[in-house]
Amino acid sequence: MPEQKLNVLYLEDNMSDAELIITRLKSEGFQFHLKLVSDEKAFVENIISGSFDLILSDYNLPAYTGREALKLANEKCPQVPFICISGAIGEDLAVEMLKEGAVDYILKDKLGKLPLAIRRALNEVLERKARNEAERELHKLSQAVESNPVSIAITNVKGVVEYANPRFYELCGYSSHEILGHKTSILKSGEMPPEVYKELWQTILSGNIWHGELINKNKKGELYWGNISISSILGKDDEITHFVSVTEDITEKKKNEQELIKAKVRAEESDMLKSTFLANMSHEIRTPLNSIIGFSELLADPDFDEKQKSEFIRTIIQNGTNLLSVISDIIDISKLDSGQVIIRKHLVSVSQLVNEVQKDFFYKAKDKGIGLRVIHPLSDHEILVESDSDRIRQIINNLVGNAIKFTDSGYIEISYHVKGDYLVFRVKDTGIGIPHDFQKKIFERFRQVDAGFSRKYGGNGLGLAITKNLVELLGGEIWVNSEPEQGSSFYFSLPYRLELKSNISESSSVEKA
Ligand code: ADP
Repeated sequence: MPEQKLNVLYLEDNMSDAELIITRLKSEGFQFHLKLVSDEKAFVENIISGSFDLILSDYNLPAYTGREALKLANEKCPQVPFICISGAIGEDLAVEMLKEGAVDYILKDKLGKLPLAIRRALNEVLERKARNEAERELHKLSQAVESNPVSIAITNVKGVVEYANPRFYELCGYSSHEILGHKTSILKSGEMPPEVYKELWQTILSGNIWHGELINKNKKGELYWGNISISSILGKDDEITHFVSVTEDITEKKKNEQELIKAKVRAEESDMLKSTFLANMSHEIRTPLNSIIGFSELLADPDFDEKQKSEFIRTIIQNGTNLLSVISDIIDISKLDSGQVIIRKHLVSVSQLVNEVQKDFFYKAKDKGIGLRVIHPLSDHEILVESDSDRIRQIINNLVGNAIKFTDSGYIEISYHVKGDYLVFRVKDTGIGIPHDFQKKIFERFRQVDAGFSRKYGGNGLGLAITKNLVELLGGEIWVNSEPEQGSSFYFSLPYRLELKSNISESSSVEKA
């Protein structure tokens, strides 16, 4: 029995019939407000302005019919049950009324059926409301899953996918027919230890939530990181029927984390390199300075042995030169950093420049008992390059200087050849060589294969960093091939255009390096 008072609109022109029905309903215990109307005008007004739980209507009215009233009610309030109460109107018409939406049709001489008809109609309304509510709720939930920015999948207890949201397909790159009906293990990357999956299954099969990070593989074979939660869905008897997995793509986050770790390692390394550099620098600057001061004092001594004069002066000059080269390196690197190194390009005769370098280092190499040779390419033409001769000389000087420094026996060889659009130089030595894992690092600032090198060989670890910078400023590249204990070959390339040769005669600015 309805608890709340019903709002009933009743269309009836016969007042005694109306009274009969009202009395009947009251006696059946219905609680209601009743709006009794007897013509079309009042019916229309109430339908439009009122809000009713039930419409009762006579069929035959003087200038209106129950059918027309039904039509209007269908338009204005289709969810309100409409019951027709009338004298006999014929079976066909009654069927028509039901087809057109009346919930029931009661003959006035069988009013006993009315309470049941009303209850049934009201129950149907309630059920429909509940159904709609449930559908709305379901729609809301499914929308929440469908449009969720995290990837969601529902599997059966064996891990076979029964549902996946669009984000799931987007993340793994598979289409629905490649996923639905298949196990989630299709996404395994092979990057995780098997124990992780074992623990995962143990956790979820025991009804607990598994939470963790997995590396998965998408259809293209690319790896991605997922932050994953898997929980179980229980059936009526509390048995596990499904699992639902929620995956957040954390690939970018992981990459950033790894970048941060790398940056931290780099920062720590650079910190350490700077400390080593400072220690080396103080050694590099103090040693020659001490020697310069010491020998100058000796020269100033009135009891000084004249025979040693020239040796002392040579030592002072040598140490002065070393000091100058350390200070030049520091100035060079600061200039390179602040973009103050200016490249002045002109035509440079490569053979001439290389020969001059050979001359400059001749005695230094000879003093160490090692050969220094130059190999020019077999060519009828002179090789000219449009570049900066001072910078090329600085590059070759650094490489040859190192080669002599790190070679105790054998020879140094300077050569060059044209390769495609580049002129490639090589400075080869038969020295101590460079361990393979160091061959890239030595071009970084302050890098020395062995931190003790600066004591043994001198140097500050800046030469190759400067050299690399200069080569790149000239538009080339630098690299090394080396075998420990056997020697090293340093290469660098410079842009080279063959057509320059034809310009030789027109050019008057061949560099006299
Ligand atoms: P340094 O002033 O220490 O020579 P460089 O930047 O010129 O600084 O060189 C960096 C490091 O590279 C050297 O300390 C040495 O360990 C290694 N190296 C450079 N050239 C050679 C070479 N020809 N043979 C062996 N090792 C070399």
